[in-house]
Amino acid sequence: MVTVKIPAGQLSAKNFVNGSWVKGSGEVTSLRSPYNNEIIGELFHSKTSDVNEALKFASFAQKEWANTPIKERSKIMFNFRNILLRDQEEIAHLKSAESGKTFAEGLAGLMKGIEVLEFALSLQNLDLGGKLEVSRGVHCEYRREPLGVIANITPFNFPAMVPMWTIPIALTLGNAYVWKPSEKTPLTSIKIANALKEAGLPDGVFTVIQGGKEAVEAVIDHPEVKAIGFVGSTKIAKLVYERGTKLGKRVLSLGGAKNHIVLLPDANLELSGVGISDSFTGCAGQRCMAASVLLAVGDTEKHIQKIIERASSLKLGETMGAIITKEQVEFLKGAIDRAEKAGAKILVDGRKFPAPKGFENGNWLGPTILDCVNPGSEASTIELFGPILSIVRCKDITEAMKIENSVDYGNACSVFTSSGVHAERVIREASTGMVGVNIGVPVPREPFSFGGINASKFGHGDITGHHSLDFWSNIKKVTSKWEKQVDSNWMS
Ligand code: NAD
Repeated sequence: MVTVKIPAGQLSAKNFVNGSWVKGSGEVTSLRSPYNNEIIGELFHSKTSDVNEALKFASFAQKEWANTPIKERSKIMFNFRNILLRDQEEIAHLKSAESGKTFAEGLAGLMKGIEVLEFALSLQNLDLGGKLEVSRGVHCEYRREPLGVIANITPFNFPAMVPMWTIPIALTLGNAYVWKPSEKTPLTSIKIANALKEAGLPDGVFTVIQGGKEAVEAVIDHPEVKAIGFVGSTKIAKLVYERGTKLGKRVLSLGGAKNHIVLLPDANLELSGVGISDSFTGCAGQRCMAASVLLAVGDTEKHIQKIIERASSLKLGETMGAIITKEQVEFLKGAIDRAEKAGAKILVDGRKFPAPKGFENGNWLGPTILDCVNPGSEASTIELFGPILSIVRCKDITEAMKIENSVDYGNACSVFTSSGVHAERVIREASTGMVGVNIGVPVPREPFSFGGINASKFGHGDITGHHSLDFWSNIKKVTSKWEKQVDSNWMS
């Protein structure tokens, strides 16, 4: 049974400018729920002129916000947290309805975002800078200062969590924030912007710009925008990185992924069966940390049976969500056909899973497990972004790590084993920014930072946790002396 409430009325995705909702002057497109393809809202796209008009308010408001002490800024962020918790169910229903997630996934994504908010709240007590008397009467000091107006461009698959990776930290540090949500899932931004306003955030400090390519380019190019965060596909991540850095701006651009799991025969059966199945089926495989290739080393038949059992028990619309668009379902079905033609064996066929009753017009594909996949083929090298697991058989860890190292991406790699020695080897040899040991989705929790390497990230630093602070701020180094010391020399 589908538990997500699909909005009956028409919601409007507009720009949030200086505390009010205004229509972008570009084209108007319909928003459909992946659950049934019914229209749930409309999106007013922004033109460059809309962006330029909106950002006039942002730079003005930022100056006041930066002059507000961090403890006062944090009080507003604390209110924001309480409002999100109060409205958690409503937000989870809306984000699930527009993105195809199950209600449980919608809620979990919001909670992960709130965890980042809690980290941001701790900055007032933990991020103290530092001061030291470096010579008689001479003090050196670090002060963290905001950058000014900063922007973030986000993908469709986590309408609240990915924006919440950056909103709390960048705002708490004293920046004005400009958010360009995905044009596929822009409705959640209504809830987040309204919650910030209700929390007491001054008008103009938070701006939402709706739209696609033109809106993104106008935001990047705007002279007041000092830094740009991006999360999305590798192709666009690279374009955004190049455009922003050419203008001399600070850019952190997170891209796509093709994540591997190394399964060893000594792995715990229950842990690996659940962990690996949930990794490739969660969010219907539409997450950058999903398992995509299973590198099965030696005899792992019993483990694979457990993965098959778990994946086969899922029910579309209930324990597994929908795919974002009909076109993406067709692409995924085509990829399964092509893998089969290339010699892969289908162990679980997602094309045969029934659609939930009453939602037959939705975008559905069940979990699919392909066995004996060729390491160089499409199914084992291209990011498919759906609930498809490609099993590549390997004779030993050396072969498995060679395959893992050969892909361009570098988000995550996991190993399932009961041997610390084998785990350590995979940790050391994985060409990824994040590694899991007996964890299917190794997303670091706060205060640890999130970020890949290789074609999964362009730019320096990570997007959450401690390693994100320097991206959203400058460190000013102050050296001061108030009186001449009797024993002063040229060094003091
Ligand atoms: P996408 O790249 O199509 O879109 C992301 C953002 O870029 C959207 O806001 C979109 O409006 C904008 N955009 C699209 N085309 C553009 C263009 N030509 N010029 C400028 N901006 C443009 O990504 P998506 O389909 O929304 O999301 C799925 C992708 O995101 C997957 O590849 C997934 O792996 C990746 N992702 C990565 C992470 C990570 O942390 N590395 C997290 C979530 C998703």
